[in-house]
Parts: sequence; structure tokens; C-alpha cells
Amino acid sequence: MATAGKVIKCRAAVAWEAGKPLSIEEVEVAPPQAMEVRVKILYTALCHTDVYFWEAMGQTPVFPRILGHEAGGIVESVGEGVTELVPGDHVLPVFTGECKECAHCKSEESNLCDLLRINVDRGVMIGDGQSRFTIDGKPIFHFVGTSTFSEYTVIHVGCLAKINPEAPLDKVCVLSCGISTGLGATLNVAKPKKDSTVAIFGLGAVGLSAMEGARMAGASRIIGVDMNPAKFEQAKKFGCTDFVNPRDHTKPVQEVLVEMTNGGVDRAVECTGNVNAMISAFECVHDGWGVAVLVGVPHKEAVFKTHPMNFLNEKTLKGTFFGNYKPRTDLPEVVEMYMRKELELEKFITHSVPFSQINTAFDLMLKGEGLRCVMRMEE
Ligand code: NAD
Ligand code: ZN
Repeated sequence: MATAGKVIKCRAAVAWEAGKPLSIEEVEVAPPQAMEVRVKILYTALCHTDVYFWEAMGQTPVFPRILGHEAGGIVESVGEGVTELVPGDHVLPVFTGECKECAHCKSEESNLCDLLRINVDRGVMIGDGQSRFTIDGKPIFHFVGTSTFSEYTVIHVGCLAKINPEAPLDKVCVLSCGISTGLGATLNVAKPKKDSTVAIFGLGAVGLSAMEGARMAGASRIIGVDMNPAKFEQAKKFGCTDFVNPRDHTKPVQEVLVEMTNGGVDRAVECTGNVNAMISAFECVHDGWGVAVLVGVPHKEAVFKTHPMNFLNEKTLKGTFFGNYKPRTDLPEVVEMYMRKELELEKFITHSVPFSQINTAFDLMLKGEGLRCVMRMEE
């Protein structure tokens, strides 16, 4: 490629300050260094996590910064030591990586890579502690190792999943984060059996992808639990058969679910981030075999409280990070589930705008409208 080894000038959406609209700027993107890859982003979507770190309320503010972590792109060039990817490969960037060498990567049971596990405060590359983005020579910080709100970005090879080049990047880009998280929480961790009953707490994009997993696993009864009754209509498209709004009941929602299901649900997946919903999700599972999986990220001071008897009664509680998927090893197969039409992604993509209208995507998310807004870099 003519651009390999050279600085590329391109458009990026820069967050200069917390909570201020992003501005499209011309940035310089340095060539990839050892174990890094420069990727041409074709599509990028907006996830809540981008909005949290843009608002920077309760998080370490790191500005100016290029946000973005759900995307699909094509390898432009690779740095020294990169052997698994070549220019032209189709990739999904992932906010958490897989070095393939640490104890976690070597364990079949973990996806919490020691080297490349998500780090929200680091705004530089892990290799040399520098940023690859500059504007007039001044550094602009990275975000979770991906910074996909740029036409070109530099990413550690361990945070890139190489996928089937025939997969449409405008659809599979949403598998970079939220959709895989919910899907994996159900398919890899809760593992519902065919014809079982599954309760999903929280019907945002993550909860609906957990619901999609329950539908794919053949669950016959899927109970959606949300405080917002407007969420039910959309959830029906994902296989939701019953809806429970905790506000419609005077007794705790776990008791409502236990009564509805004659003893409890077989599996529950919590995707709210609210600790009370986490406790309800655990306490509503059936004695003897019920499994609850926590996905939501709780408040810093939250404390999970339940009677230990629940464990003696053989209810199981688990949690998951990124749906237990190892990004490089497992994401290519998730893309294949979409290619085989087992997994439906279209219903998650409710909006699509050109990259220049990125602030529209932020407005939609702030208003709680839609699930995913995909932005195309080529206008
Ligand atoms: P979202 O805000 O779109 O959806 C959350 C839903 O939960 C909303 O519909 C809300 O009405 C509902 N809700 C809130 N409190 C509730 C309660 N007490 N009972 C029932 N419903 C309640 O969020 P999202 O983008 O779908 O993400 C869901 C959660 O998953 C967040 O906490 C997010 O941080 C987390 N997450 C975790 C991982 C991971 O790897 N574990 C990855 C991505 C996101
Ligand atoms: Zn590792």
C-alpha cells in the first residue's frame, strides 16, 4: 500500500471536552509500531460506553480524545511482529484483547487477558506509551485501545478479530461490543436448554441480545423484565413472550416471576446495572438447577445481598465480561452465526447516518431512541 509507513491525514471526531459536541477534525495518524495494526474504519456504531466516557461523570476525564469501539474495518498496514494479519484483511476491533500468551488467554475458561484487558483510563498505546493521533503535532488520546471514530486508527493486533471478508461490515460491526456481550452471556454462560424458561432483566441493546441468545437456544418462554413499558413492543421482535414491569406489582419482582413459572425460571440474565435487579435475577431462578448471570456494570458502592440459603438450595450465580468470548478466537464464529442466518443483526440496527452526523447518533442515544446507530465513514 502506498500509505504504509507514512503518516495518514484523515477525518476523526474529536471529543475536546466532557459533554461538548464532538467536532470532525483532520488528524494525523502515525504508522503502526511493533504488534500494532493501522485499520481503515468503514463503519462504526455508538454504544453507551462511548457516551459515559464522553460525559465523564464519575470517570477519569481523558481529553482531547477519539472515542468509539464498535466498528468494522480493513487492515491498511501492519507493524513489526504482526504475522496474523495482512493489509486487506477484514477486522472487528474489540475494546478488550487476547494476547494468546498470558495465563488467562491460555485458560479455556477465561477471556480476561492480562495484557490487553479493557483499560478505560489509558489514552495511549501500550507498546510505547504514546498516542498515534495528533493534530498539528499535539497528541489526541486513544479510547479503550480502539478509537474507531476516525477514518484510520491504530490498534494492538491482540484487539482485532479477523473475520470472513464476505460478511457485511455495516451489519457485523455491532458485534464488536454490546451485542456479543448479551449473546455470549446467554449462549456461553447461562446456557439455557431447549424449551426452557429464561428471564431477561433490562431490555436495552445488551438485554435484547441476551434475549436473541435465548431465542437461538430454543427457549420456549422468554420473560422480559423492565421498568419502562415502552420496551416491550420492541422486545417481541426478539422472542419475548411475557413482560413484567416491577412497578406494576407491590411484591418483589422475583416473587412475581416464581409464581408465574411455578417455582422459578431456569435461567435469568441481568442486563440493567441495577443491584436490586441483580438480586431479583438471582432469587427468581428455580431451586436445584437455576442459573443467573450478571452482565450489568453496577454502581461503585453497590452491595449484592442475598440469603446464603439460596445457594444451598442449588441456585447458581455467575457473572460475565464480554459474554465470555475470547475476541480473536471466538468472534469470527459469531460472525458466521450471522452468515448462517442463525443470529439476526438487522433488528438491532435502528438508525444509520453518515459519520459527519455523529452528534445525531449521540442525541439518539441520549434520548433513548433506538438500539444501534451505525455511521458510515464514506458519506
Ligand atoms: P440500557 O440502559 O440501554 O438498558 C438497560 C435497561 O434496564 C433499560 O431499558 C432500563 O429501563 C432497564 N432497567 C434499569 N433498572 C432496572 C430495574 N431495576 N429492573 C428492570 N429493568 C431495569 O443499557 P445497555 O446498553 O443495554 O447495557 C446494559 C448493561 O450492560 C449496562 O450496565 C452496561 O454497562 C452493561 N454492559 C456490560 C458488559 C459486560 O461485559 N459485562 C458489556 C457491555 C455493557
Ligand atoms: Zn492474554
